Amino acid sequence: MDGTRTAAPINLERIRKQYPDGTVAVDSLTMDLAAGETTVLIGPSGCGKSTVLRMINRLIEPTGGTIRVDGVEVSGQDAAKLRRSIGYVIQNVGLFPHQTIRTNVGTVPRLLGWPKARIGERTDELLTLVGLEPERYGNRYPHELSGGQRQRVGVARALAADPVVLLMDEPFSAVDPIVRTRLQDEFRRLQETVRKTVVLVTHDIDEAVRLGDRIAVLSEHAHLQQFAPPAELLAAPANDFVREFVGGDRGIKLLAVTPIPRERLTPTGGPSKAPVVAADATLQEALAVMLREGSNSVVVTSNGTPEGVLTADDIVATLAAPGKPAPAVE
Ligand code: ADP
Repeated sequence: MDGTRTAAPINLERIRKQYPDGTVAVDSLTMDLAAGETTVLIGPSGCGKSTVLRMINRLIEPTGGTIRVDGVEVSGQDAAKLRRSIGYVIQNVGLFPHQTIRTNVGTVPRLLGWPKARIGERTDELLTLVGLEPERYGNRYPHELSGGQRQRVGVARALAADPVVLLMDEPFSAVDPIVRTRLQDEFRRLQETVRKTVVLVTHDIDEAVRLGDRIAVLSEHAHLQQFAPPAELLAAPANDFVREFVGGDRGIKLLAVTPIPRERLTPTGGPSKAPVVAADATLQEALAVMLREGSNSVVVTSNGTPEGVLTADDIVATLAAPGKPAPAVE
């Protein structure tokens, strides 16, 4: 593996898991996960998501198929060594209760035999990265933190040895909805910085849409029903299973992942009293401004310069036919 690489692709080829009792958790799943992207595995409870995730770091051994991380088959590698190169975050974190936060975060670097000073630096760097001041929180014990803070420590610990892959199994499910949204936002910002290959399991479609670069919708036995970026999944569900899974309000969800369609804007025609929204905003933000200001249009600006007007009709037309210009109105 190239020592400068901080993310690696994952290739799943016809992977299968049949448990000893005969249960076929994963039938035959083939997927290519791009380096540096967040892939979300979503599907109903029991469809095999966790089994897929745990086969990647060999917490579960597949009964068929091939898994490659950075082009190298995981089955041929030493399992303990493999797991040190793959970060793993679970619900309720699993921090060591009798160790301080710093010691918890430094777990894998210690196993790897890093010098003490380097572990200390790395630990403080990561705590800062996940928004926990090292001086304030580093010497505390897990029970002295809130659930959300513990979850941040879990993420810091998983990233400590700069793994090429980060596996996350329902990482934000155990915290209340407000904290969950905040953690999701933080995770998105963090991922923009670290750009790991992340595989995240969830049963929450809103979380999938918020965090995924691509979403894999699985049905029973980990049958892959659709594998697409959030906007595509919401705009064009591949079949009834996906349509039902993403929900009847997929139009609302689509607003949040659809940029303002610049090609639909009409000229402002001089000074306007309409509220203003930045050109890099989403349709959700544009609609929120319209609703807040009681206006059926917004002026879209780029670096403060008006680019054109977006109307509520434009939003409806964009969602009805993403990527296509609005029909001409007489
Ligand atoms: P998910 O993460 O989508 O909820 P899992 O991967 O945990 O699903 O489980 C997939 C299927 O495999 C389920 O039917 C579950 O009951 C079964 N399963 C999980 N672990 C075992 C096991 N150790 N032995 C037998 N069946 C199992």
